[in-house]
Amino acid sequence: MNLAEFVIRIESFNANVNVALLRKAYEFSNKAHQGQFRESGDPYIQHCLEVAFILAEQHLDTATIAAGMIHDVLEETDITLETIKQEFGEEIARLVDGVTKIGELHFESAEEEQAEYYRKMLLSMAKDIRVIIIKLADRLHNMRTLGALPGERQLRIAQETKEVYAPLAHRFGMAMIKTELEDLSFRFLEPEAYADLQKKINEKREEREEYIQEVAKPLKVELENNEIKAEITGRAKHLASIYYKLRDRDKPLEEIFDLFAIRVIVDTVGGCYQALGIIHSLWTPMAERFRDYIATPKRNMYQSLHTTVIGPRGRMVEIQIRTHQMHHTAEYGIAAHWLYKEGRKELDESDKQMIWLREVLEWQRELSSPSEFLEYLKIDLFQDDVFVFTPRGELKQLPKGSTPLDFAYAVHTDVGSHCTGARVNDKMVPLSTVLASGDRVEIITSSHQVPTPDWLKIVKTTKARSKIRHFLKQREYEESLNLGKELLEKEFKKHNLKLMGEHELTDLAMRLNLSSSEALLSALGNGSLSMKQVLSEILPEVPAPPLKEGLIQKFVDKARGRRGIRIQGLGSLLFRFAQCCQPVPGERIIGFITRGRGVSVHRADCLNALQMMVENDRKVEVEWDVDKDRSFIVRLAILVEDRKNILKDITEAIADADTNVRGAEIKPGQVATIGNFIIEVKNLRHLNRTIKRIKRVKGVIEVERAKGVEIEEGKTG
Ligand code: MN
Repeated sequence: MNLAEFVIRIESFNANVNVALLRKAYEFSNKAHQGQFRESGDPYIQHCLEVAFILAEQHLDTATIAAGMIHDVLEETDITLETIKQEFGEEIARLVDGVTKIGELHFESAEEEQAEYYRKMLLSMAKDIRVIIIKLADRLHNMRTLGALPGERQLRIAQETKEVYAPLAHRFGMAMIKTELEDLSFRFLEPEAYADLQKKINEKREEREEYIQEVAKPLKVELENNEIKAEITGRAKHLASIYYKLRDRDKPLEEIFDLFAIRVIVDTVGGCYQALGIIHSLWTPMAERFRDYIATPKRNMYQSLHTTVIGPRGRMVEIQIRTHQMHHTAEYGIAAHWLYKEGRKELDESDKQMIWLREVLEWQRELSSPSEFLEYLKIDLFQDDVFVFTPRGELKQLPKGSTPLDFAYAVHTDVGSHCTGARVNDKMVPLSTVLASGDRVEIITSSHQVPTPDWLKIVKTTKARSKIRHFLKQREYEESLNLGKELLEKEFKKHNLKLMGEHELTDLAMRLNLSSSEALLSALGNGSLSMKQVLSEILPEVPAPPLKEGLIQKFVDKARGRRGIRIQGLGSLLFRFAQCCQPVPGERIIGFITRGRGVSVHRADCLNALQMMVENDRKVEVEWDVDKDRSFIVRLAILVEDRKNILKDITEAIADADTNVRGAEIKPGQVATIGNFIIEVKNLRHLNRTIKRIKRVKGVIEVERAKGVEIEEGKTG
């Protein structure tokens, strides 16, 4: 293509383009890239011209096409941003700058670099979405000429195109660009499968076109009889989509019926539904494949009616019905905004794409690492949607695989954070239930409920995930800050030291290579900094730590002298009873600071606790301090002779001791067998009394406390 050809062709797309400005951009770019060549051997200006042409094809405005023409001058030549501003003005300079900045960041790890790159891309999109459209056009031409590159780079670029650029184009509804990007990356990633499939599809072309006419002709007659003006076309779907269909369904080409679709384009929305009725009167529809994307458009604004009917000769045919306007949106997506709107610079506030973009940017601020961001972005880009309803009939669009918890967060962050249960179509369901289109979802909330780490395993959406992470991090930080503060005060008292003021504390933090007094306290609280390290900074004469065996002895001695639970007299702190030993009041206990989960409380004679004593010095002294009404769960393993009614007798014995049974099972064995009982007791005396009763039951050989169930989490104080 040369400039003259370019001008003729773009004027056919949009009569309003400023040809003089585009000529100027061309001359400018041509001069700047003088003497530069592409890997293919073409002069560099060819790439610029092609990128500008792709943008013109997408009906973009003059500024965007001109920016496309000079998109590489900042990166590849000596031209400065200032010069571009002088020659072409602020708007075009900003676009070129945006496109250039996306490419210029460098980071340590490849993943970090990649993540930062996408983040940057989204940020520049938020300022002006045309930046990403130029980037997509650039990538499309690079893919068209990918054959000139060495094999390894081909694969890397094709892979990235498949994973990021095609989904981005899809997200913005730009089907034409998305389809070509997908097909090109498929061609380079799977060359043999591509060639094979292309051959097969071509062989069937004639037969396919004949069949399309068999459908189109009678349909056209019926539509005309009903005075509906319509364009009917039919064509094979693009190769990449057929290929992935074949792979996913694991069927031969002959058995896949939706290899092509017939498209009916009419003037009005009413016409769409009328046409649908006519199609259904001609051929029997398959109800389960009908989709009304007019009433509920896809997230990328796509609208159409999809129906599959049993067509002539019993073959299944997919038919898509839409208006001309919907068709434009389907082909050009967000670019359709510039169609016939020369000079329009900003998108409407109400624009769905902008809402999505703002959401992405909002959650990206709450994510701590670039790799998290990358992970979420990929998940978000690849999802198909399900449509579900609130109890009041309001529609919510969520990615496929979403759960009621995702739904709750989609309604409002507060609804998500306090979600305790859900009803789907009036039935109580677990929060992990996968939602299906059409479900009516009702969320049950409680002001006491807060997000837990387990929730991260349930949710699918980026929004929910980032909100939960944010909450957990915040809470973890607050807990460790409080704990660190109390530990430090306690330790200072022990050594008769004067408490430190904010200034001294900050100073101490600096000496320990920490950024602030808060960082110091939270590091102490979460266990990443030990008290020993702190003390050695202020009391250089602190004696060397005792030997490991000595430590255990010291701990055992201390534990013996104690009773009850209160964590070193500390205030309100998160704690958790260890699963391994299930302490009950009256037993000797010991606490350890654990990362992010507060203090874990073990029995003093628990082997795990002894092990932890040896391995670290994050021990805290704890004592019992519980309400009389509170009960604790204990699991018992009971060795019994296998006899009739033994389960009933043991259960009765437990009840006689005023003890609740939460669960009981005995699996029959040959001679003797082990039964598992989960009971609720108030304290050690209560437990011992219960065990004594059980031992009196005829046939009981041994009763033992077993490892197991998680005990409730609580607060001290
Ligand atoms: Mn380029």
